[in-house]
Amino acid sequence: MINKKLFFFLMLFSTFSTNSLAQNINQNAPNFIVIFADDLGYGDLSSFGHPSIHTPHLDQMAIEGQQWTNFYVGASVCTPSRAALITGRLPVRNGLMSNKSRVFFPDSKNGIPASEITIAEQLKKAGYATHMIGKWHLGHREAYLPTNHGFDSYFGIPYSNDMDYVVREDLKSTYWDLWKVHYEKLKTEDFNVPLLRDKEIIERPANQYTIVNRYTDEAIKIIEQHQTDGQPFFLYLAHNLPHVPLFVSEQNKGKSKNGLYGDVVEEIDLNIGRIISALKEKQMHKNTIVVFTSDNGPWLQTDLSGGTAGMLRDGKGSTFEGGVREPTIFWGPGHVQPGRINQIGSTMDLFATFSAMAGVALPEDRVLDSYDLTPVLMKRQKGERNKLFYYRERELYAVRLGAFKAHFITKGGYGDFPRTLHNPPLLYNLDEDPAERFNIAQLHPEILREIKVAVDEHQKNMSMPKDLLAERDPKYIRN
Ligand code: MG
Repeated sequence: MINKKLFFFLMLFSTFSTNSLAQNINQNAPNFIVIFADDLGYGDLSSFGHPSIHTPHLDQMAIEGQQWTNFYVGASVCTPSRAALITGRLPVRNGLMSNKSRVFFPDSKNGIPASEITIAEQLKKAGYATHMIGKWHLGHREAYLPTNHGFDSYFGIPYSNDMDYVVREDLKSTYWDLWKVHYEKLKTEDFNVPLLRDKEIIERPANQYTIVNRYTDEAIKIIEQHQTDGQPFFLYLAHNLPHVPLFVSEQNKGKSKNGLYGDVVEEIDLNIGRIISALKEKQMHKNTIVVFTSDNGPWLQTDLSGGTAGMLRDGKGSTFEGGVREPTIFWGPGHVQPGRINQIGSTMDLFATFSAMAGVALPEDRVLDSYDLTPVLMKRQKGERNKLFYYRERELYAVRLGAFKAHFITKGGYGDFPRTLHNPPLLYNLDEDPAERFNIAQLHPEILREIKVAVDEHQKNMSMPKDLLAERDPKYIRN
């Protein structure tokens, strides 16, 4: 068995002998596990107020760690939200936000550009092993897969679990009716989604009944591997559920009081409990930080197949709070000071936060939208982030400055909603009115002026490259 000290000795020896590895090898650098749910709403955990979904493992993590009530993603749909997390940048900066296609599809031609620095590439500079499990959704062609963007290994599906639908003649259904009416009749083989190991397809269609358990088995293997070799690691575990279609293992079916959706959320919770137990059994819990959050709000148009944003307004696809504020927990008994945190944070901040903890300097050749959260996590001090820019497609829809949020444009999450311009903007105080019900623009012209200054400053540094989501392959043959 190679212990941690020996690993660092080997790393240093390797550095001297090859003169190529990072200078910043930090012996106290923690392991990082980011667990991303898909389309889970702000109100879908019992610790965030759900009355019938039972999530005891996540709730316990929220007690032992930090429960964040104002934590955001970088966009309200899958692809750009994942791009934001993985690069620490607003996805409009890297071409992964589009007016033509909101996410990547199986006929999409592009993926995350090679010029982007992913968190995995960043942590490799400090000698981390890097692993990805689950839904990638940043390009499924080989050049764009995780193992070409800083990850040592990959096990998962390259895009959403509802893609590659094999039309069921017996259901004679619209897309939306699949989730509203037929959701309990759907089978995993109705979706010809591939499961990959590194770059190879190993199963198609992916068996989605067992996928949560199998992702977790892989995660536990990675934990065991690094207990043995002592190498610090970063694991990005992106569950493709509870995004529709919903599937659950036989042993957890019918267990929840919330129907199939609740069964799926509870199965994810149970499996997160397995990861925490593995860390404790291996004595790695004191030097591992686990972050749990979701990629965007609930897909409200899927009715009972979707979740809830609790008291927050709207859901997936929208720049109202329900689209982008997520139930978030930071757990790490050796590093994270327990408490309930009402400060603003973002998945984009993980880039700077992990870099700081691992001792890696931030890149200086690009604009980052990432703030180091370590003062909040480790000491419960005030963090630096006090603003957020909410983009939809390639337009700035809203801005949050402190407690205040101004909407310049609003539109419903999904479907044929009107796009409404607001001049003056709508203004809400999210501390007093988290549900965004009472427009107070007339009461606070001075806040609108402050927000305008923040927008002008932000736009000085904004340039949008080519839209990479727009290009689709006309020769692609759908199943
Ligand atoms: Mg999603």
